[in-house]
Amino acid sequence: MDSMSRLLPGRAARLAEILERDGATCIWCGRAFAPLVAPTTEHVVPRVKGGPSRLENEVAACRRCNAERGHRAPVEWLEECRRRGWQADEPRLHRSLARLAEAIGQEGGLRRARPYLDGQLRRLARLGPRRVA
Ligand SMILES: [Zn+2]
Repeated sequence: MDSMSRLLPGRAARLAEILERDGATCIWCGRAFAPLVAPTTEHVVPRVKGGPSRLENEVAACRRCNAERGHRAPVEWLEECRRRGWQADEPRLHRSLARLAEAIGQEGGLRRARPYLDGQLRRLARLGPRRVA
């Protein structure tokens, strides 16, 4: 068995666990997952910023949102979603950032992700609750 085929079942199982934890909707646009709105695993802290592939840093997003966000910071992208009038799930984003910060606090490591994560939590706090248009 090569390394990829060992990774894939793990990834599918993690996605199932994420949907169980957060509900079967896209964190960014709020659409319910369906055959034409497929769930993908989204890294809250992007991998290029040192974000780990583990449950604390993973949420479900539809393929469109995942692709459109790219490497943008999660709070920056949340603001963009709001501008577009989408029902972005800010509490879910906050839970995810807080969960990862707690895991890092307990286990150490992830030196590169830590300042990025703190910055995102501060930015989210400044942003405040959703402004109703
Ligand atoms: Zn979406």
